[in-house]
Amino acid sequence: MKKIAILGSTGSIGTQTLEIVRTNKDIEVTALAAGRNIDLLERQIREFRPKLAAVWSEDLAAELKTRTGDLQVEVLSGMDGLLAVAAEKDSEILVTAIVGMIGILPTIEAIRAGKDIALANKETLVTAGHIIMPLAEQYHVSILPVDSEHSAIFQSLQGGQEKALHKILLTASGGPFRGKKREDLEHIRVEDALKHPNWAMGRKITIDSSTMVNKGLEVIEARWLFGVTVDQIQVVVQPQSIIHSMVEYEDGAVIAQLGTPDMKLPIQYALYYPERRYLPGERLDFGTLTQITFEKPDMETFYGLKLAIEAGRTGGSLPTVFNAANEKAVALFLDRKIRYLQIPEIIQACMENHRNIADPDVDEILKAEQETYDFIKNRW
Ligand code: NDP
Repeated sequence: MKKIAILGSTGSIGTQTLEIVRTNKDIEVTALAAGRNIDLLERQIREFRPKLAAVWSEDLAAELKTRTGDLQVEVLSGMDGLLAVAAEKDSEILVTAIVGMIGILPTIEAIRAGKDIALANKETLVTAGHIIMPLAEQYHVSILPVDSEHSAIFQSLQGGQEKALHKILLTASGGPFRGKKREDLEHIRVEDALKHPNWAMGRKITIDSSTMVNKGLEVIEARWLFGVTVDQIQVVVQPQSIIHSMVEYEDGAVIAQLGTPDMKLPIQYALYYPERRYLPGERLDFGTLTQITFEKPDMETFYGLKLAIEAGRTGGSLPTVFNAANEKAVALFLDRKIRYLQIPEIIQACMENHRNIADPDVDEILKAEQETYDFIKNRW
């Protein structure tokens, strides 16, 4: 039996991870953590019987404890709860499917406890990649990518020589507004931005895909995961989302991973790596597939991507500011408090306002995040 713990078990990645557990039957879930959805968390506890569960607020933890009084499960709350789930003694892999920079400290805790990390939470590497990657090396733990593009890159690197990697070709669908110009995006509503052409995901990441900020975050994430420079990563728009990403080797050979858009493949690959298992679901049909097309990203219309590349190149605390500014701007847009085009405007204003710290520690990262939130709060 493989033993895993999950941070963010009630979210999009968390529930799909549990679907894989359900179909494979040889994974034991030792600990689960969620934010607020105790109805679903209770159902998950009853089905998967973890020894430990955590919810963010103390009140909800108390309620969950009462509700699960008939079971042998310890219920904790707050950061202590997340850290306990991350380092749960029997688990071998921590799936970080929580959203936001709150994932940094539990990921560090899990690495120190010798757990491999199945990493979905991109904010962890975007903001603290310079801390996480050396720490993982020091503790001899693997960081296994769950994000579909990074999994595709990881899969394309299997059997190749990492030192012969020349370039990463990170594919992007282009989102629902591909081909539009900035003036066409003036009156975009929340409902329009939540319609992703190919992938079904959480709300925040769906908006991030529409602005291409998600691709920017992925560039920074890839830079840390695969030890390349930002300039070795080329974003390629591939609207059908069939190629999930590619690598180019020194000799010019390009290796790609293709498939239908289904997050369960990268999740399962991370959980069983290096083993490949049967995965039910739709397959690519090369009898009916007519075309795979490529375009250059439009960095003027979707200048959130350009800002991300700039933040990634500069490094230090700037990617934290980029990420925090985007997080707050997206929340304001989802609350209908700002217009769609204000999302990159707010990110740019925050980046311009920030005095970069070259090699920030976790406290400095969290301080840069808070300062960005405060800057936005006073202005928008
Ligand atoms: P969701 O919003 O669907 O889920 C987020 C999860 O985090 C929920 O379980 C939520 O709990 C939990 N959570 C939020 N705040 C806290 C907290 N303070 N303490 C404990 N748990 C908390 O997000 P996704 O699953 O879409 O994304 C998760 C991460 O994976 C993100 O970093 C995203 O960028 C990344 N990712 C997602 C992909 C996707 O296809 N969805 C693809 C690639 C990467 P609750 O709901 O109970 O409040």
